[in-house]
Amino acid sequence: MAIVVQKYGGSSVADAGKIRNVARRVSESFSKGNKVVVVVSAMGDTTDDLIELANKINPSPEPREMDLLLSTGEIVSSTLLAMALHAMGFSAVALSGPQAGITTDSAFSRARITGIEPKRIVKELSKGNIVIIAGFQGLTSDNDITTLGRGGSDTTAVAIAASLKAKICEIYTDVEGVYTADPRLVPEAQKLNEIGYEEMLEMATSGARVLHHRSVELGQVYNMPILVASSMVDKPGTIIQGGENMEQRNKVRGIAHDMDVAKITVGGVPDRPGIAAAIFMPLAKAGISVDTIVQNASANNITDLTFTITRKDVAKAMEIIRPVAKQIGARECLNDSKLGKVSIIGTGMQNAPGYAAKMFQTLYAQNINIQLITTSEIRITCIIAEDKVKEAVKALHKAFDLDKG
Ligand code: ADP
Ligand code: ASP
Ligand code: MG
Repeated sequence: MAIVVQKYGGSSVADAGKIRNVARRVSESFSKGNKVVVVVSAMGDTTDDLIELANKINPSPEPREMDLLLSTGEIVSSTLLAMALHAMGFSAVALSGPQAGITTDSAFSRARITGIEPKRIVKELSKGNIVIIAGFQGLTSDNDITTLGRGGSDTTAVAIAASLKAKICEIYTDVEGVYTADPRLVPEAQKLNEIGYEEMLEMATSGARVLHHRSVELGQVYNMPILVASSMVDKPGTIIQGGENMEQRNKVRGIAHDMDVAKITVGGVPDRPGIAAAIFMPLAKAGISVDTIVQNASANNITDLTFTITRKDVAKAMEIIRPVAKQIGARECLNDSKLGKVSIIGTGMQNAPGYAAKMFQTLYAQNINIQLITTSEIRITCIIAEDKVKEAVKALHKAFDLDKG
């Protein structure tokens, strides 16, 4: 009997009717003779609503209580899905992340899975139960509940699939697969039949939220193929897997965007050893994740240091940086929270000239100013004004011939 792991995202379980639809799909797989494990996200906008509610009560809630609160969203959807299956006459059991044996480190709101002991899951499967697991959560060695970061249910699913040695991890969502760009932004975007882990990881870390980036990392480490497909229509979807059987590679495979970028500049910084450490150590200690860092060439031993973070971290980062800036003799500390980023991604760009120039030319033709640029071997990212992101994605999608299929 094959083990099938399926994950359904928030929009796929947003109301009672949709939960019944998922129950029907799950029961079909079970009736074919599979052992079925299902991972679910919280219903619809539940996680956003809980965050809003918490912030109304306390603008800076304790991370421990926040994670315990947010974990309830997935408990609700997992239990309701089990109840829907019971109503259809199937045996199913809902498990929280800790009950499913998922352990994590103690970084609240962005915990990493440290291990899975799938004993309970295996026992329930052997009793003939369909096993429904609450995504996005785990337990620390101190018995505290953690969450895995926004979109983290994908990671729960891939980790569970790896621990059960399933053949594939199926992720069902509200689009038909991974596209050359967010299909909600670019109607001409094309569905990819297949994409490698490396390119998918760059897409995910650059803002393509169709998969949580950690789920792709885990897929790559455990060589677990991931299928992304629609929870509503039966269409083939996209397979994310390792190198072989790769489709003919377009040089640029996709455009990713992220509307949630903020920039902090520490201006007039003395250019001497230890300054960057003095700025970034306290941010790291506070759990603030820094994305792009740019240091200008210094003039008269004075330089500027600019870095980007997500918008929600700006107030805390400024609170930390202001006294440090004063202490190291910097001139000023400025922030801009209305930024976004756009990235072109493709392994075909490796060691091939001309991609950066074409990207910059395309943005220039749209009169879009580039504030910062970062690259990896297979990605070029430009930080631009948030209100220009949509235009930039569309123009780049066209310029790199991605709308031609
Ligand atoms: P779920 O709730 O199922 O986890 P998400 O909202 O997290 O769903 O992810 C699906 C969304 O990802 C889509 O609705 C789409 O707008 C967005 N998305 C961004 N980039 C892409 C892309 N390249 N391909 C497909 N979807 C994308
Ligand atoms: N419910 C969580 C979120 O909204 C986790 C997930 O959907 O994967 O981020
Ligand atoms: Mg998601």
